[in-house]
Amino acid sequence: MRSSRLPAVKTLETFDFSFQPSIKREQIESLHELNFIERKENVVLLGPPGVGKTHLAISLAIAAAQRGRRVYYGTLIDLITSLEEAQAAGRLARRLAVLTHPSLLVVDEIGYLPINYSGAVLFFQLMNRRYEHASTVLTSNKGFEEWGDIFGDDVMAAALIDRVLHHLPSGERRGNSYRMREHAELYRTLQSDVEGSEPVRRPRKSKAGH
Ligand code: ADP
Ligand code: MG
Repeated sequence: MRSSRLPAVKTLETFDFSFQPSIKREQIESLHELNFIERKENVVLLGPPGVGKTHLAISLAIAAAQRGRRVYYGTLIDLITSLEEAQAAGRLARRLAVLTHPSLLVVDEIGYLPINYSGAVLFFQLMNRRYEHASTVLTSNKGFEEWGDIFGDDVMAAALIDRVLHHLPSGERRGNSYRMREHAELYRTLQSDVEGSEPVRRPRKSKAGH
């Protein structure tokens, strides 16, 4: 807990499910059993601001720390800044190793600020290191189909999402065709589960040909 940099103490016990009926209580409780950490799987919490994403990301990290797991928290910007500083100081490999080590890394606030290309490359390197090695909890106020805009590069965002969702049931994976469009479909499917909650997606920016 001391080295985790968690910004606050938030626990499952203080999460009010009646306040957020679109969230499935059993699903969240089962996540807190932390089997996903054993399986080195990731958790993605998507939703508009103020709905409890950071709260639940922190409560997962605290639950993991209580079981003796090493956990680390950062916003996407914090993590990228620390990687950039390390790179400038010639210590990138060391920093990547440090951030790959925790059993649970929280990457909070994906999407609030745009990421420049070199920052996106550094973050991709980190997620690539953690891929199938240790779990990451990611939160975003943007749907997957908007991650291309956040990271400034659709191909890198698709590769990143592919890393993040690596243990999706095989039916969701279709080899080379597993691209942004399908993530968008998956996202819509997930969204249809939360009927009645506020829409998460901004109106899509019109792009010629799409
Ligand atoms: P988000 O990260 O989705 O923007 P937060 O997790 O930061 O939202 O939630 C904003 C504040 O409201 C935090 O103090 C959080 O603890 C609290 N909060 C949000 N949802 C709930 C809830 N269902 N029960 C208890 N507290 C909540
Ligand atoms: Mg938050």
